[in-house]
Amino acid sequence: MRVLILGGTTEASALARLLAGDRRFFPILSLAGRTSMPKAQPIATRIGGFGGQAGLVQWLREEDIAAVVDATHPYAVQISRNAVAACATLRMPLGSVVRERWQRMGQDRWSTVGDVTAAVVALGMAPARVFLSLGRLELAAFAEAPQHTYLARLIERPGDIALPPKIDFVFARGPFGLEAERLLLSGNGIDILVSKNSGGQATYAKIAAARELGLKVVMIDRPHKPCGEELVSAPAALSWLEAHLTHRGTPSSLRGV
Ligand code: NAP
Repeated sequence: MRVLILGGTTEASALARLLAGDRRFFPILSLAGRTSMPKAQPIATRIGGFGGQAGLVQWLREEDIAAVVDATHPYAVQISRNAVAACATLRMPLGSVVRERWQRMGQDRWSTVGDVTAAVVALGMAPARVFLSLGRLELAAFAEAPQHTYLARLIERPGDIALPPKIDFVFARGPFGLEAERLLLSGNGIDILVSKNSGGQATYAKIAAARELGLKVVMIDRPHKPCGEELVSAPAALSWLEAHLTHRGTPSSLRGV
């Protein structure tokens, strides 16, 4: 069965590993192309947008795809909206890996806000040292609060975008450990952490470290993200795919013909 995995996340990579070498499936992993050097993957990969909902419908038809797994980031709304609409148009099964949110715990000092613009306001007027754990395109909003000194963690250089005047970068790709996060936050004298509620383990250590250090966290709440059938993990996505196995695209050797 030919399967499209919409990826860019830990779960998408985990599903790619589960499907690699499984002759019942012909999976293609799709990445948005947000980083110039994505991690190597063990299955066929394509990179870049499809051209909106219509482009995705056309691509799914041309590639003879039989099912889609949306394992995109919890804040990537547009691609999920397109996937829901395209799969409805084609009456194609769509499973969506939905990560649980991180929950506030006893010692946490979270201010939950609706979006990046509100996060800038939540930093307050008094100059602070702020750690930005966000995507590069979200950094521009902080140019509106130039009184703060920022440290932003990115996978690669931000390119030609407007930035606040006092900003440094640390370049790294997760997962991140607790000890390293504690050192990063305390070593740079950070007062406030700005984060999305991404969920999952790979980037949780900064939240635990902020709790230990008593730092304020400005948590950008999740947007509404359309989804198909909800799946909790990569193994759950594999089981879901197995339940949708069709003979379409299955090698004749496996069909017994
Ligand atoms: P988005 O707003 O949902 O998608 C924008 C467009 O990018 C889509 O309409 C689609 O273009 C293309 N696209 C997105 N994901 C794709 C995929 N897996 N394969 C092919 N094309 C894809 O998502 P975003 O711009 O990537 O990110 C939105 C938010 O999610 C940001 O806050 C970002 O920091 C966060 N985020 C994203 C990723 C990621 O891997 N994408 C990872 C971590 C965090 P067409 O309409 O042309 O098909």
